[in-house]
This record gives sequence, structure tokens and C-alpha cells, in this order.
Amino acid sequence: MSYAYDDQNIFAKILRGEIPNKTVLETEHSLAFHDIAPQAPTHILVIPKGPYVTYDHFAAEASAEEIVDFTRAVGEVSKMCGHAQAAGGDGYRILSNAGPDAHQEVPHLHIHVFGGAFLGRMIKVPEPR
Ligand code: AMP
Repeated sequence: MSYAYDDQNIFAKILRGEIPNKTVLETEHSLAFHDIAPQAPTHILVIPKGPYVTYDHFAAEASAEEIVDFTRAVGEVSKMCGHAQAAGGDGYRILSNAGPDAHQEVPHLHIHVFGGAFLGRMIKVPEPR
């Protein structure tokens, strides 16, 4: 099955400059910005600039340059926000939702970076569909 990318999603609009964002980091292939409804003291989203719906889409079809850039952007954000232990922090969590079971709201790949508080263990107990 192929991946269908909807270029009217909100992150595509951010990338086109049609709606504003609070940028944390911009690289050749990636953009990081503050989540509009933060669920932790630090809640940053890192997205590739290319049209990828999910992590598996990105892993299958992105170029090596895009993958390296995006992977490093996530690592850089974890240090910039001060939560990486390499930056003297107490840690952080990254998470990427894909599809309806994961409650993905925006169909453009994004990695959530959470930090700044004790985040508890993993995820809450799943509910039946
Ligand atoms: P997900 O459920 O993983 O698709 O997460 C989508 C995230 O995008 C949510 O945490 C939203 O708060 C966030 N979000 C939606 N619109 C915006 C926006 N315009 N700027 C920043 N974050 C947004």
C-alpha cells in the first residue's frame, strides 16, 4: 500500500509559511517548533520538511541526507532544551504517533520531544477500540 500525503495538513501550512510557529531549530531538511498545546514543560515537535505521513513512510522513502538531518535535529533539540543528560539534564522522552490507533492528529511525520518534569512510565494502559 502506498502512502498518501495531504498537503493541506497544518504542518504543511507551517512549512509553507502560511501559519506561524515558534521555531526552535531549522536545518536544511527539518524544522523544530513548540507545540501549540504543550503537555509537559518542554513540548517540542520536530518535523521533516519533506512530505512524509509517518515514521515508517519516512524510513522507507526519505533520502539518506534527510534521515541523517532529521535524526540529528531531534538529538540537537534534546540538547538545546537542556534535558539531554549530555547537556546536564535529567532526560526527556520522544514519541511519534502513526495512524488512528496511536491518535495521530496531524498527518505529517512529527516527533514529540517532552521534558522538564518526571514523565512517568511509558504510556497509559491502552483502551479497547
Ligand atoms: P499528534 O496527535 O501526534 O498528531 O500530535 C499533533 C500535535 O500537533 C498536538 O500535540 C498539537 O497540539 C500540535 N499542533 C497542532 N497544531 C499546531 C500548531 N499550529 N502549532 C504547533 N503545534 C500544533
